[in-house]
Amino acid sequence: MAEVQSPGASGPSNQFDVVVVGAGFAGLYMLHRLRRVGFSVRVIEAASDVGGTWYWNRYPGARCDIPTTDYTFGFDPELERLWTWSEKYATQPEILRFAQFVADHYELRGDIRFDERVVAARWDALASRWCLTTDSGLQLSARFYVMASGCLSQPKPPEIKGANRFLGEVYFTSSWPHDEVDFTGKRVAVIGTGSSGVQCIPPIAAQAEQLTVFQRTPNFSIPARNGPVKPERRAQIGKDRDAYRRDAKWSRTGVPVELPTVMARFASPEVRRERFEAVWSLGELIPMYGVFADQALFPEANAVVAEMVREKIRSQVADQEVARLLCPTDHAYGTKRPCLDTGYYATFNRPNVRLVDLRTHPIRTITEAGVVLGDEVMDFDVIVFATGFDAMTGALVAVDIVGRDGLTLKQKWAGGPATYLGLMTTGFPNFFTLTGPGSPSVLSNMMVSIEQHVEWVADCLSRLRTQGLDTIEPTELAEKGWVGHVADCAAITLHSTANSWYMGANVPGKQRVFLPYVGGVDAYRQACEDVVAAGDLGFRRSGPGGTQCNDGVIRRMQPDVSRVLQMLSALNLPTFESLPVDQARALLAKLTSARPPGPAVGEIIDGTLAGAVGPLAYRLYRPASVGPHPVLVYFHGGGWVLGSHVSDDPLCRDLCNRAEVLVVSVDYRHAPEARFPAAADDGLAAVLWIAEHAAALGGIPDSMAVAGWSAGANVAAVTCQQLRDRGGPAIVGQLLLAPVVDCDTARPSYRENADGYVLTAALMRWFWDQYADSADRAHPKASPLKARDLAGLPRACVVTCDFDPLRDEGIAYSEALAAAAVPVQHIRGRGHTHGSLTMVDVVVSGAAVRADMAQAVRNFFKQQPSLAEA
Ligand SMILES: Cc1cc2nc3c(=O)[nH]c(=O)nc-3n(C[C@H](O)[C@H](O)[C@H](O)COP(=O)(O)OP(=O)(O)OC[C@H]3O[C@@H](n4cnc5c(N)ncnc54)[C@H](O)[C@@H]3O)c2cc1C
Repeated sequence: MAEVQSPGASGPSNQFDVVVVGAGFAGLYMLHRLRRVGFSVRVIEAASDVGGTWYWNRYPGARCDIPTTDYTFGFDPELERLWTWSEKYATQPEILRFAQFVADHYELRGDIRFDERVVAARWDALASRWCLTTDSGLQLSARFYVMASGCLSQPKPPEIKGANRFLGEVYFTSSWPHDEVDFTGKRVAVIGTGSSGVQCIPPIAAQAEQLTVFQRTPNFSIPARNGPVKPERRAQIGKDRDAYRRDAKWSRTGVPVELPTVMARFASPEVRRERFEAVWSLGELIPMYGVFADQALFPEANAVVAEMVREKIRSQVADQEVARLLCPTDHAYGTKRPCLDTGYYATFNRPNVRLVDLRTHPIRTITEAGVVLGDEVMDFDVIVFATGFDAMTGALVAVDIVGRDGLTLKQKWAGGPATYLGLMTTGFPNFFTLTGPGSPSVLSNMMVSIEQHVEWVADCLSRLRTQGLDTIEPTELAEKGWVGHVADCAAITLHSTANSWYMGANVPGKQRVFLPYVGGVDAYRQACEDVVAAGDLGFRRSGPGGTQCNDGVIRRMQPDVSRVLQMLSALNLPTFESLPVDQARALLAKLTSARPPGPAVGEIIDGTLAGAVGPLAYRLYRPASVGPHPVLVYFHGGGWVLGSHVSDDPLCRDLCNRAEVLVVSVDYRHAPEARFPAAADDGLAAVLWIAEHAAALGGIPDSMAVAGWSAGANVAAVTCQQLRDRGGPAIVGQLLLAPVVDCDTARPSYRENADGYVLTAALMRWFWDQYADSADRAHPKASPLKARDLAGLPRACVVTCDFDPLRDEGIAYSEALAAAAVPVQHIRGRGHTHGSLTMVDVVVSGAAVRADMAQAVRNFFKQQPSLAEA
């Protein structure tokens, strides 16, 4: 193994395969893992010893807030056999001892250079190597450069005027002295009430003569209920350690907990209370993220949890005015990192503790003697700053990292970090970030995420070596795709509504971007594995023998759509086409009965109207606003075989509210009992009846559009053609969601999306078989795309979904309408399946598309000639 020489040396002994920055848990395991597979490694660490977070953050009360039996290395059973955690949440000294034990056990220290801070790193394109420089002038050269520099390791300076004037004792929780600090008899100020503040305030209050807590924004905190590790927990892990650790790896957060199924929005007050109390009593952060299955996504569900936590806060604090100040009201539960505490709220009942609300009493300045608040001068002996970190990107951009073509990391990330998998970034070959932005990192049990990244990087380097390659870099396409996917994951949660450090909001001037990957540890791990299985998809890899690149995007589907597909697949349901028709209908009815009901509308009326050969049922959805309203006649999906006028109930409610129209969802006769052209004939008959009765239904006469999903969109499109051909009544627009418009199953979308997305190519063929003889299928009443002339049809909005066999025919219809001079808007359901946009209140990512659809419907009526003229 090569040896580091004196500062400034640049001889071969300062050349390594890999330089790793940081000797926290990530750096330690990276070193161990790389050494095991035969790479020469040097770790550079700014501190004087190993431990990272647990080396620096030595403030009183510092502990982990993930149970230590989970917040531990799981990669080596031997390590677990040799080390036993004493408490549910171990103290900082114990965790630091563990890091030291790991370093000793694997004899890692010999390859770590302490008290050395990397200040610059430059990619040498000619040599395909990184050149690193430390603050002492030491230079190192490495083929690969790994930043294991920590997500919460770059302290944020306090932005308070006069902060460095204070002449008393000053401490930062993030770099606490190694000798014990004695607060006895002292007047102490603690500024900041994030996780560190919440942990250190109770023990400081117990010692100090006076403690003043300066709070800018209150955080949610739950009681840790700390104590010895419970025997049940030990037994659970001991029973099958390997299975436990495997479950952790494939869990949402890196701790195996049961996923919630109860939805706060639909549960009774009793069920909500019972569920909340059960989770509250555990004293664990991760289960509190999932008291209810919908709390991270829906404000009204989150409000249930938030209010119950506030209730608990109020119950712990004697002075209700102080309690009010301690209760967070400006963010949803979980959108800022909640804290775990031991006696935090009760501390404010002590006579020597005062809370100052900085929102109403901002600090004017810090002076030599203390703090000036408005007119009040407060003298202190000690100030403790618990002001947090420049999270996730801070330690990375603190180093002057210069990649290909002179681009610096700081410049590249000025608008927010862009990474591929949170592991690499385009323009910086052979540069890896452990638990980097765009990976689960701070939203997970970090030990599990660290292990996964370390193993992925070690395997990646080994693979390169085996394949005779020496350079790797993500492609722009892959990185752009990943950044988009990370944003999609965040967009469906409430996270972006909070001013949190996850968003970079605590650092002035930092771009507001949701930094970690919120799609789940399990989904993330799967994506990383899929990248490898697909031949290092999205990476350009080169060596003396040439360059390899299998370019592409690893995740294009909306994350909530994937989750729904996973859930459906876990149900192991039979396919519709494998069942007799009556059983297929029963299966659909069972599935639709289990979904959320959709939003409330002003009024719902069920009735019947005259179809082509007999009465047809309809359901009318009236907006809450004063009518009359424009009328939207809606035809349900189900391949002409399944469903009814109520089977798309949530979608109809949603359209009714968003577009503020009277929706009349009409049934039509189904195949195989009533084959082609029964559905088409009923569609026409229904529209004629509704046109005639519009006023009586509460609609505006002569102000009618049609809509439909799937086969229902087929009925809607066909109805428009029939009405045009018979000369009216006039239809102002047609909204076609994932329409069947052609019987041609040879288009690429049929092949690409043949299977796996509920509407399969096989099911679509079955639907056609039920509905129409081969000879009839090309008739425009079955395949409206085959109509000889599309001119003169009502303006259209065609919505297609990426993962839908019908995608390409929808696009083709949209293009054909445009070619026939019909005004048409094409909306792409990016990352959606044939059915996912109809899953109101389940697939949150569909809401934006449905908003666009509703706007299109509003536009139909706005552009209606008669109304426009009026
Ligand atoms: C108070 C506190 C409590 C926490 N509790 C939990 C918890 O309960 N559960 C959980 O999952 N996570 C927790 N975390 C997050 C914690 O940071 C991670 O769990 C984990 O310790 C990170 O390990 P790491 O090796 O990635 O980074 P770190 O432990 O931060 O180590 C990074 C190291 O890199 C060094 N370094 C950085 N830049 C340079 C440079 N340029 N040159 C040289 N050296 C450099 C630093 O000095 C540091 O020692 C907590 C964080 C804090 C601050």
